[in-house]
Amino acid sequence: MWRYREALPIQANASPVTLGEGMTPLIERTWGRHSVHFKLDYLCPSGSFKDRGNSILVTNATEMEIDHVLEDSSGNAGASMAAYAAAAGLRCDVYVPEQTSPGKVTQAAAHGAHVAKIVGNRRDTAIAAEKAADSVYYASHNWNPLFLEGVKTVAFEIWEQLGWQRPDQVVVPAGYGSLILGCYLGFSLLKEQGLIARLPRLVAVQTAACSPLARAWAAGWNDVPPVEPEPTMAEGIVCTQPLRGQALLKAVRTSGGEILAIEEDAIWQGLQDLASSGFYVEPTSAVVAAALDLLKNEGRLHGCTVAVLSGTGLKATDKITRALAERAPELPKELH
Ligand SMILES: *Cc1c(COP(=O)(O)O)cnc(C)c1O
Repeated sequence: MWRYREALPIQANASPVTLGEGMTPLIERTWGRHSVHFKLDYLCPSGSFKDRGNSILVTNATEMEIDHVLEDSSGNAGASMAAYAAAAGLRCDVYVPEQTSPGKVTQAAAHGAHVAKIVGNRRDTAIAAEKAADSVYYASHNWNPLFLEGVKTVAFEIWEQLGWQRPDQVVVPAGYGSLILGCYLGFSLLKEQGLIARLPRLVAVQTAACSPLARAWAAGWNDVPPVEPEPTMAEGIVCTQPLRGQALLKAVRTSGGEILAIEEDAIWQGLQDLASSGFYVEPTSAVVAAALDLLKNEGRLHGCTVAVLSGTGLKATDKITRALAERAPELPKELH
């Protein structure tokens, strides 16, 4: 992604902390009778798009001569931060909710991070991290605006890989909303520079089990009140109240897009459909496949559609195994 460093707000002489994140493949597949381009961000070095934001965040931390960072996460952001902190030789503490997928916790620990499992939900984890951040640099992907600047490179790449063309719509999962805001920033910059005529429609996809953005969108509100979360497979987008709620609603509205919420059964179906196309993603990422089906069934899957696949399935083996066992009893016994 550092091919776009002139568009990144980082010192010109800074040496990037990079593991080769970005410029992930854009692969065209048929979806029903339509064509969809899948952006394979689950192939980033740590297995999720979070590497885009953390590469620039950790680069900035080393510029400030910080030697110890702290992050809280539902899993992928912490695993990614642990990787970039290790690459830069920084100490790293990662706070995760206790039910986080073991694959993500082990990954962070393997990179040498100190992992604190917090009893309670994602919000309790954030509160514990904010308290600890009194004395350690809080390298929060949700608060630090530099993270969004890294994520915006996904928009540049989509544009470049489509032959310097804007897609008509981009479908992304949304919890705290960094992919949505990153796409908004990236495509807005392209528009400002006169490189595209208008923004693609930004379609944000939530899990129905926790969908404060979709609720606010449907109600036509300008702000996003908190919701009570239900259990969901899509652990990476559980956010009861995004920090940038107003900005998110405005970004989607400005783009002419929309915000959808997906039920559990449809998430699982989406995961299977993606796997049947060769894409092995985690349940969180599978919400976009279900959203493609919704758009298709309503006759709105026309033009050039890009769906961002945000995280690898390899870290969610436990969840995928359980779901396979519950829903496909004919599978071999070892999977039960
Ligand atoms: C973090 C994450 C998301 C959601 O990103 P937000 O910034 O919270 O909207 C989506 N998919 C995966 C795999 C993630 O790790």
